[in-house]
Amino acid sequence: RTVAGGALEISEITKQFRGLRALDGVSLSVAPGEIRGIVGPNGSGKTTLFNVISGIYPATGGTASFGERVLTGRRPYQLSHLGLARTFQNLRLFGQLTVEENLLVALDRSPMRSLWRYVLWPVGVWRHERVLRREAAELLDRFGLRDFAGAAPKSLPYGIQRRVELARAMAAKPALLLLDEPAAGLNGQEVGQLQEIVRSIRDSGVTVVLIEHNMGLVMSLCDRVTVLASGGVIAEGTPAEVAVRPEVIEAYLGD
Ligand code: ADP
Repeated sequence: RTVAGGALEISEITKQFRGLRALDGVSLSVAPGEIRGIVGPNGSGKTTLFNVISGIYPATGGTASFGERVLTGRRPYQLSHLGLARTFQNLRLFGQLTVEENLLVALDRSPMRSLWRYVLWPVGVWRHERVLRREAAELLDRFGLRDFAGAAPKSLPYGIQRRVELARAMAAKPALLLLDEPAAGLNGQEVGQLQEIVRSIRDSGVTVVLIEHNMGLVMSLCDRVTVLASGGVIAEGTPAEVAVRPEVIEAYLGD
């Protein structure tokens, strides 16, 4: 698959919470097919940036666009139709549903499905169901979840639950995937598996932006890294470049 969607362009984004300016004119540009890391001390604005890009908070100022599509000013469900998917720091899976059902719900909402087909052609409803089940099976295989298809997510080890969340995000067939601390709570082996999964997602044509505190993972996985501090970009470059910048080291010393 070729890279879909174009570049992510974030231009002069600000976000004000009452007295606090959480983002203060953040600009960055992510190339199609890149894996971009967003790092920075606690409170530097990383999650707020994701929340603004993904439509959870309106921006106070500035714009974000993905290829031709303007992202800012839209609601999360509209952004999902524009090819954006994200995960959260805390898992947000449906606890009453099985792993497979969590994927089916996400697949059924994916923008490739068009209702008018079923209106014109009732057999299509039955077909639709079959296609969804096949796609769910593909996702289960791809993410190593086949053995857990019928399980309740909460009954599974945390590392598996995180994989379910990634699979669910991919069910929406995004062109741009935002991952908020995907390695949090994972053991070393699981971090290794995560790295392989994220690479394969990128290789399938998806642009990936991840917030991550695990510097080992950032160093080996990310093409480029943007460093935030106090709501502004203080450095950007390859992982090796930014790791030795004095302003980056200084920002982390106070953390
Ligand atoms: P990071 O993800 O880098 O740790 P955040 O984006 O979570 O940082 O937070 C940046 C700043 O914005 C912090 O000072 C935080 O307290 C503040 N903040 C984040 N969300 C809200 C909110 N909904 N209301 C008020 N302040 C917020």
